[in-house]
Amino acid sequence: MSYKVPFVDLPTHYHRLESEILGAVREVMSRGDFILCDDLQQFQDNMASLLGVEYVVGVGSGTDALHLALRAAGIGPNDEVITVGFTCVATIAVIVHCGAKPILVDVGEDYNMDVDQVEEVITPQTKAILPVHLNGRVCDMKRLTDIASKHNLIIIEDAAQALEASCDGRKAGTFGLAGCFSLYPMKILGATGDGGFAVTNNEELAERIYQLRDHGQRRSTGEILLFGFNSRLDNLQAAILNVKLRHVPQWIARRREVAALYHQGLSDLQELKLPPAPQSQGRFFDVFQNYVIRAKERNRLVVHLEKSGIEVLASWYLSKPLHHHEVLNLRHFHLPKTEQFAKEAVSLPLNSEISDEQVEFVINSVRKFYQK
Ligand SMILES: *Cc1c(COP(=O)(O)O)cnc(C)c1O
Repeated sequence: MSYKVPFVDLPTHYHRLESEILGAVREVMSRGDFILCDDLQQFQDNMASLLGVEYVVGVGSGTDALHLALRAAGIGPNDEVITVGFTCVATIAVIVHCGAKPILVDVGEDYNMDVDQVEEVITPQTKAILPVHLNGRVCDMKRLTDIASKHNLIIIEDAAQALEASCDGRKAGTFGLAGCFSLYPMKILGATGDGGFAVTNNEELAERIYQLRDHGQRRSTGEILLFGFNSRLDNLQAAILNVKLRHVPQWIARRREVAALYHQGLSDLQELKLPPAPQSQGRFFDVFQNYVIRAKERNRLVVHLEKSGIEVLASWYLSKPLHHHEVLNLRHFHLPKTEQFAKEAVSLPLNSEISDEQVEFVINSVRKFYQK
């Protein structure tokens, strides 16, 4: 089915940069530079200067960035890692893949970790905290870093949805020992397939992630240092990402504009709970990876919007909470907000390609549903 307002518009996204992207692809193909070549090095350097960090390691996905960062930080069997249940399942899966135990706490009104609940669940086995900066808003990192240092815990950030988001002038992914980003095509900066990267200022950790992504070897000497994985960000992807990276500031500006339009058009409706409008000053700089609202009669609203030709997202983690999936063995966690939000949340179309007219159409369709 073709929507009047698709949730994302990847063909338009591509066509706007087509000649630049194809130019980069042709060059890489002609050179035959596919694995760990200059374009990847350049992408890592570009990203390091954008985020103001020492080390960037390009890997196969955001999930791998998290997995390898946790392993590099020494997380393993008998360790506990505190995270949230209102996230992508990958956040929790990587903890389990390290042999460690995920400990879930609830989220607050900003859909991020409720920092007040963290100290209650710390035990002698707790090694790390894994906050998620959901929807492009940074978690309350000031308090979380205080708690982590008081209890001598590592922080690894899931910044998959928060490229360039900041709080108190500090960027997502740069608060903890490592920050992990996704280049999944629907993310703010998307590859043409899977990709991800981890960032850190810790040389030893960076070195360990470089080894883990490349069979545990040190390429310069051929020495094998540990059993690793094969998770290298493709050089071809990196070349395309270097083209796209130049456009990220303008894409984020557009995302914030669209969020402001939604806020203007919907904030008088009592039936809805909107995210905060984008602020130009203040503590938080939000990048609106998603525009998630909570709605009275969410399921009926979703049907109404879909019928009107608007593609929305109410599934994924938003309909059945992760800890209610029996096979994951997370049923013992009590997360009332997570459960409530799973019933009420819906993500409206927001991307850098959407037009003002399309935003207007979404606003009018929502208003029509509530007869406003
Ligand atoms: C997208 C995402 C991931 C996983 O990233 P992939 O690149 O798809 O592996 C992890 N956590 C969050 C919060 C995400 O949004």
